[in-house]
Amino acid sequence: MIPFNKIYHSKNELEYVTKSILSQRQSGDSQFTGICNTLLKKILHNRAFPLLTTSCTHSLEMSALILKIKPGDEVIMPSYTFVSTANAFIMRGARIIFCDSQKENPNMDIDHVRSLITNKTKIIVPVHYAGISCDMGQLISISKALDIRIVEDNAHGIGAYYKDIPLGTIGDLGCLSFHDTKNISCGEGGALIINNESLINHAEIIREKGTDRSSFLRGEVDKYGWKKLGSSYLLSDILAAKLVSQFEDLDYITEKRKTLWDYYHNNLLPLEKKGTIKLPDVPKYANHCGHIFYVICEDIKVRDSLINHFRLAGIQTAFHYQSLHKSDYFADKYQGEDLINSDRYSDCLLRLPLYPDLQNDEIDSVIEALLLY
Ligand SMILES: *Cc1c(COP(=O)(O)O)cnc(C)c1O
Repeated sequence: MIPFNKIYHSKNELEYVTKSILSQRQSGDSQFTGICNTLLKKILHNRAFPLLTTSCTHSLEMSALILKIKPGDEVIMPSYTFVSTANAFIMRGARIIFCDSQKENPNMDIDHVRSLITNKTKIIVPVHYAGISCDMGQLISISKALDIRIVEDNAHGIGAYYKDIPLGTIGDLGCLSFHDTKNISCGEGGALIINNESLINHAEIIREKGTDRSSFLRGEVDKYGWKKLGSSYLLSDILAAKLVSQFEDLDYITEKRKTLWDYYHNNLLPLEKKGTIKLPDVPKYANHCGHIFYVICEDIKVRDSLINHFRLAGIQTAFHYQSLHKSDYFADKYQGEDLINSDRYSDCLLRLPLYPDLQNDEIDSVIEALLLY
């Protein structure tokens, strides 16, 4: 049986986690969090200020609080994304305006985004699907021209770039995920990447239950108290210990995944030439991190029969998001137009097994099963 995903065990994880468990400080912002911050800053080319959080979902929730979203504000995001992208802003009363994906790939269609902007638009949330960058050049010019904030949902894209700029460091804020299913994992975890210095203080207060405890711990104030609305979004130092070991192996993980990704792509080209499936489209400006390898089938019938064909060959595959504008929660609130590309990816996209421990004979079996379909 070839599973869809396998968790990567980093070289030093047991040593670091044991050290944290045996120490007297295991809550957030202790020794391993400090090491994580140093490593993460370097991964982000020292362009940004990272804060470890309990999840990408919570980083998104923090973003909505930091940018002071209030009822009636409009937030534009793709319908083809994870529920957390939308929940985080709806919880603060925002109106979610769903845009379509591009015809070529699941990232947001910027022309469609432009057509959805009103004087109530506060934030645009690009989701870098599969760690393949959205067109950040266009989004930044929209942001500057119209004073709209950009929050990058970069759950997929640690180790990926727009040109040579790390994803998550281009908008005002960026959100990372360290969930089991992502390239770097500590079980559950995330980071908020802050690219605008004026937002750091507010972010620290929100993450510390609305208090200025972070300033207090640095000795900047002599007591701490309740300053603003906040919650508890600090990652435990035990999980930060595991993250340190994962960050140390980031280059290996990314290279291994990209090599496997390229191998799939090269070996499946004949099927794309025949018109059986479509392979991922990577724009010139995107330098991805091998997070997901997907194929696009002709329709949902073919996709479902392909899943079954793989299952019979002992290979686990997975489809992905279902358009949020058609979800049980949102369908009766949706007033926009049809989002045909988003629906096509919901019906036709299929993800193949991809992880650093995927063996050569295993990837060959997956390719062979697809060639024989
Ligand atoms: C996984 C994912 C999230 C949520 O990440 P968590 O760390 O599990 O909260 C958010 N957005 C996207 C696009 C994701 O894939």
